[in-house]
Amino acid sequence: MVKKLEEYAWLCPQPFINLHKNLHGSVKPCCITQYHNTYWPSVSIDEYFKGEQLKNLRKEILTTPGDLVARNCEICLEQEKHSEESHRRTYLSYLEHTKPEIKLELEEYLETDMEKPFIKTMEWIAPNNFCNLRCFMCGPSNSSSIAKENIALGISNFPSKGDKLPWKFPDDAAKDILEFEDKVLENLVEIKLTGGETLAIEYNYNLLDTIVTNFNSEEMDLRITTNGTLTPKFNGKDIFDYIPMFKSTLLNISIEGWEERNGYIRYPSKWSTIMKNVRRFAEMDNIRILFVSCVSSLSVGYLWEIAREYESFLEGYPGIFYPFVTGSLVWGEWNKYTVSAVPLELREQYIQNYYENPNMRYVKDYLKLISFLENVPFDVEKHRGMMLDIRARDKHRGTNLLDLWPEWEPYYK
Ligand code: SF4
Repeated sequence: MVKKLEEYAWLCPQPFINLHKNLHGSVKPCCITQYHNTYWPSVSIDEYFKGEQLKNLRKEILTTPGDLVARNCEICLEQEKHSEESHRRTYLSYLEHTKPEIKLELEEYLETDMEKPFIKTMEWIAPNNFCNLRCFMCGPSNSSSIAKENIALGISNFPSKGDKLPWKFPDDAAKDILEFEDKVLENLVEIKLTGGETLAIEYNYNLLDTIVTNFNSEEMDLRITTNGTLTPKFNGKDIFDYIPMFKSTLLNISIEGWEERNGYIRYPSKWSTIMKNVRRFAEMDNIRILFVSCVSSLSVGYLWEIAREYESFLEGYPGIFYPFVTGSLVWGEWNKYTVSAVPLELREQYIQNYYENPNMRYVKDYLKLISFLENVPFDVEKHRGMMLDIRARDKHRGTNLLDLWPEWEPYYK
């Protein structure tokens, strides 16, 4: 009998069926695989599959999750401490409900020596960090605007990438696309593009061109994560031309608050532009749209506002919008904007906000957010680092945290 996925103690499909390649050329199992003492290097796809790093992680996942899982999958483990939700569980559910035939194939694959790759989904962060926004919880790898602001503020970026912004590596992009053509695209059922600002990076359109020209895009799902502010044309085509050529499209619109709150965290985005673009996407056939929010120190007290206002989209466009998702936990050593930076006194008020603004659609989400607020320990160093960062960026931008978050006043001085 072939062992079912649900019979494993703690299985994640991503190290077996997914490939994630980022701006630095690093190849790893998924977008949130962490780097603690386990840097995932820039290697060829063949080297990645033959490498001990992936083999050892896979072995732990299939037997007893231990130190490697703890280090690589820290975000999923943290999420699962607070709720039933995690990226890992989302991917398992995707297989069970959307791709049951691949689930069966994967179960059989897990019983082989796994020497031959079985890649069905892929995520690419093209080697170009262009982004027009400077979101607080982002970094220079994903935003040329943050990198530029960092230089102005004397904060170091990655010296190896140079000071000329945005970082653009056309040769690496062409090499990546050739390699995907050769090793991955033939069997892919889902391609996921993120950024940088995904829709404003030409290399993403080069990959889409390759897929629609040389592969069966009508059997492939397209997933795009975007800030929703830009829809430029490259070689005479924009994203509205590509979407109809795929089996289906899921558009993840990243927002961190409603209206001005989003504009502050995702500075300097214009809410009216995002809404105009979202409504245009919503008129397309074969598309589903999802508003997604990170759980960060700045958003964690106010995600109920999005839930409340988003109802108009769910009701106005039946079957197009999914309920909004609070799935991406801002976490990790390098990020200051984690829930651990929120002082305990503010958390009581934030928890109260969720009780005072109940929403039956998001009961589990609210319980998860409350659990983060109640249980994530306060980290004074992170808090101090975050306040320094906010003050410096506010001064540089001419903004003020207290306009929308007056409760932070005692810590802002
Ligand atoms: S971080 Fe989560 S989604 Fe990524 S490989 Fe680990 S368990 Fe899977």
